[in-house]
Order: sequence, then C-alpha cells, then structure tokens
Amino acid sequence: MDMEIKTVGVVGGGQMGSGIAQVAAMSGLQVIMCDVSEDVLRQGLQKITEILNRNVKKGKMSPEEKEEILGRVITTVVNEDLAAADFVVEAATESEAIKFQIFRDLDVICSPGVILATNTSSIPIGRIAAHTKRPDKVIGMHFMNPVPVMKLVEVIRGITTSDDTFKSTWDLALKFGKTPVQAQDYPGFIANRILMPMLNEAIFCLYHGVGKREDIDTVMKLGLNHPMGPLALADLIGLDTCLAIMETLYHGFSDSKYRPCPLLLRYVEAGWLGRKTGRGFYEYE
Ligand code: NAD
Repeated sequence: MDMEIKTVGVVGGGQMGSGIAQVAAMSGLQVIMCDVSEDVLRQGLQKITEILNRNVKKGKMSPEEKEEILGRVITTVVNEDLAAADFVVEAATESEAIKFQIFRDLDVICSPGVILATNTSSIPIGRIAAHTKRPDKVIGMHFMNPVPVMKLVEVIRGITTSDDTFKSTWDLALKFGKTPVQAQDYPGFIANRILMPMLNEAIFCLYHGVGKREDIDTVMKLGLNHPMGPLALADLIGLDTCLAIMETLYHGFSDSKYRPCPLLLRYVEAGWLGRKTGRGFYEYE
C-alpha cells in the first residue's frame, strides 16, 4: 500500500529526536514531536531554532523559510496526538522496556497502515516488532549523530519487515536528503558492528599500555585520516553507550571477540562517562 507521507511523528525529543524532527520539517513535512518531558521538548525546539538561526546568518536560508520550518513542528506530551502521523520514527531512550511499551501504545494509537520505525542503536528490530500486531510495518531507521549533519541512514529490515515498508522507509530517508543503506537485523547492524569493536580495541591498547591516550588517538587521526581519535570519539558518544553496544554484540553473537574491555567497564562503574560527565578518557571543563 502506498500512502503519501505528509506528517511524521517523532517519539523522543532528545539529542536524536530533535534532529530527526528538524530534518523532517526541513524536507517540507509536518512534524509531531512527542516526549514525556515538557522541558526536553522546549530544549529540543530551542536547539532546532538555534541551528536554523545560524543557517539564516550564514545566508543559507531566509528568515521566512526558518519560520515556515518551525511552523511545521508541533510538540506534545500526549501520545494520542501521534494519531495524526502517517509515519512514526521512535527515538526515545535506549531501553527495551521503554521501547516495547512505546510500540505497544503506537500500535493502538496509529492507523493500521502507518509504519513504525525505530532509531535504536542496538535492540533487535524483530524483538520490537513482536510487541505490535503489525510486525511487517516495523523497521529500523538508524540516523547518525548529529542528525542534521550526517548523511547516513541505516535502514534495517527485521525478519518480518515487508518490502513495501522497506521501500517507503528508504524513500523517506531520501526525502530527508540522506543516503540510505540497507542492513539486516543482526547485532550492531553495520555501523556499530564495525565502529564499536574498533573503539573497544583502542581502549584495550590503553589498558595494555601499548600507547598513551594521545598517541592512540594520534595514530588513528594522522595514520588513518580519522577526523577524531577513537578515545575522544568514545568520550563523545558516551562510555555507557559504548559499553551497552559492546554488550549487545557480545551477547547477541555469544562470541568472546566482542567482550568489552575491563577498563571501559571500570570507567563506567566510576561514573566516568565521557564528555557528559566531564571525565572519560580525557578531562573536560
Ligand atoms: P536522549 O536521552 O537525548 O533522548 C531520549 C528521549 O526520550 C528523552 O528526552 C526522554 O525524555 C524521551 N523518552 C523516554 N521515554 C519516553 C516515552 N515513553 N515517550 C516519549 N519520549 C520518551 O537520547 P538520544 O541520544 O536522542 O537517543 C535516542 C535513541 O537514538 C536511542 O535509541 C539511541 O540508541 C538512538 N541513537 C543514538 C545516537 C547517539 O549518538 N546519541 C545515535 C544513533 C541512534
């Protein structure tokens, strides 16, 4: 069934949700951004406004265009408001319990034809889909951070995802101005399957004393042209998030090659989560 998508629902107005709302509004769609927190929604809208203001300043868009884009974004703390959406992208907290409940709710709230996509970094799509009566219409739509800047979207097919659902999601990613790639529903999909073991190995290098933190990062920057060193990148992503994804890979494949470095575990246990707590592999203001 080919339904024209005019209104996109975004569940979660945090870091990723507000970015997804922004790109959807910039591509001309109406957006309903839903979060459990009024504060988050206010901050999310503020963040979008600041980015658009910068675009106006740089001459990339007119003040009128900015107002039109902002005018297309509605925020709400009432789940039922998502009934008006033709397509939903869920970008709430990375927790199975939270996502399962959201998908059970969305399944009731949204009309039967509506596709329910998830931005999860690590939860199997099939496991989320099983909480709905429309498993053929559940799919992964994995954006990169920061969403307005990064071109890639991984479109992840669960074992039950239909071809129609895949095609509509793929086309929506294109409409957002992104470059989609197709991934199958295995732990970490493609991006985190490759990235996280690399970051984890950099942490092992530090753990084994192969190099100092600066030297490990310099090797990857100057030796492999990475824009950031792996330890600095792990700090940016959040060490708790890195650990959670490594554990998903480790348990998902039952393979010791994905075991999280004990040093990563120690840092997370100490509350050294990276930039967000002021300390990770580096210290921040
Ligand atoms: P975040 O903490 O910034 O935002 C999550 C938001 O979800 C919070 O504002 C929270 O209030 C809200 N929320 C919690 N329960 C809710 C509910 N029942 N209904 C509506 N909103 C609810 O987190 P984030 O970094 O934006 O991550 C969101 C999702 O995107 C996660 O699944 C994460 O794995 C994924 N992701 C994150 C990144 C990244 O780099 N941060 C990259 C790709 C994908």
